[in-house]
Amino acid sequence: MNRIGIDLGGTKTEGILLDENLETIERKRVPTPQNDYNAIINSITNLVNELKTKTNESTIGICTPGAISKKTGLIKNSNTQCLIGMPLKEDLEKTLGQTISMENDANCFAMAEAKMGAAKDFDVVFGVIMGTGVGGGIVINKKIHSGRTNIAGEWGHHTLIQNGNKCYCGKNGCVETYISGPALEKKWNELTGKQESLPQIIQNLDNEIGIQWKNEFLNNFGIALANVIDILDPDAIVLGGGVSNISFLYDEGKKAVYDKVFSDLVDTPILKNQLGDSAGVFGASLL
Ligand SMILES: [Zn+2]
Repeated sequence: MNRIGIDLGGTKTEGILLDENLETIERKRVPTPQNDYNAIINSITNLVNELKTKTNESTIGICTPGAISKKTGLIKNSNTQCLIGMPLKEDLEKTLGQTISMENDANCFAMAEAKMGAAKDFDVVFGVIMGTGVGGGIVINKKIHSGRTNIAGEWGHHTLIQNGNKCYCGKNGCVETYISGPALEKKWNELTGKQESLPQIIQNLDNEIGIQWKNEFLNNFGIALANVIDILDPDAIVLGGGVSNISFLYDEGKKAVYDKVFSDLVDTPILKNQLGDSAGVFGASLL
């Protein structure tokens, strides 16, 4: 059967139609309506219906910002605020007239990279998103491992530093508040007084402050991922999101992780994603 995947992003919504061999038949991108739940429902419905004109039957998978509560079926933890507390899956099943699959963006990322990207040769894959936020997803034998309550892989809100930076989730010291893009830029601003973007910062690390910033980043990255390896011992870790473009994460970063794992043997591949921004829409189609 053909597959339709929709990636609902904060600014754009992308749709794709794949055939049985996962070859792209059609791909389309529209702006995401801002702060208007009903407009988002209409926009996704129109996009799917347009893709449906090119196929007979197809599965539909949707990648959303935020998770679906297993308790209520409603969206939670979303940075697209108008979705919070809404029955997105149920409402879309009504307008589309068929059942759909829905997963958060980190799970879709992990699924796409595990099935057709950087980790396609591995069985147990931990997919990491380090961007505006930090998230993760676990794929085992090409299936998402959601866990008993749908939070498996959510390492972005592990406590990294007790009583540390305040997080929007209500806790302190979460991984996200140290190694997300905005957190790294904020730290640079505190150290240098400069408002610079991550790509700019990376160009200026060969000085005392730069070394301090980088060492702290590597240390936090190392602890955060070593904890994951200690629990899951995955066959591969794939990094995604804007922060994953930093090349030193794949040598010095990897070493920082290995140094902190509780084992005399660590060889977990830490891989750069292959699908880039397309992981969400491919992952959605594979659900
Ligand atoms: Zn948090």
